[in-house]
Amino acid sequence: MELGFVGLGAMGLPMVQRLLAAKHSVVVFDLNRDAVATAVAQGAIAAASPLEVASLVETVFVSLPTPAIVRNVVTATGGLIDGTRIRHYIDLSTTGGQTAKDMAERLAARGIASLDAPVSGGTEGAKNGTLAIMISGEEALFESLRPVFEVIGKNLFHVGRDIGQAQTMKLINNLLAATAVAASSEALVMGAKAGLSAETMLNVINVSSGRNMATEKYFPAAVLTRRFDFGFKTELMYKDVRLCVEEAEALGVPMWIAGTVKQVWGFATSQNAGKEDMTAIIKFTEGWAGV
Ligand code: NAD
Repeated sequence: MELGFVGLGAMGLPMVQRLLAAKHSVVVFDLNRDAVATAVAQGAIAAASPLEVASLVETVFVSLPTPAIVRNVVTATGGLIDGTRIRHYIDLSTTGGQTAKDMAERLAARGIASLDAPVSGGTEGAKNGTLAIMISGEEALFESLRPVFEVIGKNLFHVGRDIGQAQTMKLINNLLAATAVAASSEALVMGAKAGLSAETMLNVINVSSGRNMATEKYFPAAVLTRRFDFGFKTELMYKDVRLCVEEAEALGVPMWIAGTVKQVWGFATSQNAGKEDMTAIIKFTEGWAGV
């Protein structure tokens, strides 16, 4: 199939590489020339703007960092919305329900159908094609694109017909992941200060009731090794928790714990740690605890 793809970051580039390997033709755009060059070396076609992508192909995916950037790429001058061929727009980013709804409405006025399709599974999942993909929008459009989704994801969930529902699903998931990382950091630092080894703690926790994604996956891979390279930036985690709390407030759902978790990630981002990997948040707790 002929596809367009805007956003060749930690997630977008490996997804494009898989699509190319599966013999799809992919027109790409990113502000980062190195990322574009890497994709082109593997067979992608470079476009000069989102508008050019949307004037060359009917189906355009985006994988971009923030709601503001998604809005810009879709609606600004030179944006996807003015493309002459685009008919389907699929947002793989985590941008919240409101942005998904606003973009879908604007695009629908031009006869362009949308799916919101945020993903989970990290850069490893993007490389291996094992992502979970949460999809909302017209089921028929999802089904027509199923073969493409199957190249990048292993677990596909059509969670609802209304645009934005998949974003809500993703925010709930990431709130839990953000909470697990923050709480596990505090727990392990406390144990370390009491003289327990990190390996021992993880061995015990991971066959006991406290186990979670941070103790099972993120910490063994990126904290014990002190590499802090899981591949998801702290500022993106903060963005997801913030979007979740905003949506909870709009729905009238009290979230005491999420409010604290939001402060933790917001603090780290405010201390110039936003570009660091989310697993590096434990360094703050270590510093405060003096371990
Ligand atoms: P990233 O920061 O690594 O990549 C974003 C890419 O977008 C960069 O290549 C950047 O140059 C490009 N970009 C920024 N502004 C642009 C513009 N105006 N036009 C074109 N390109 C532009 O981010 P990522 O980790 O790949 O995440 C992308 C999305 O996927 C985010 O919404 C994130 O929350 C979500 N996500 C990330 C992970 C992960 O583990 N990294 C997992 C699941 C979901």
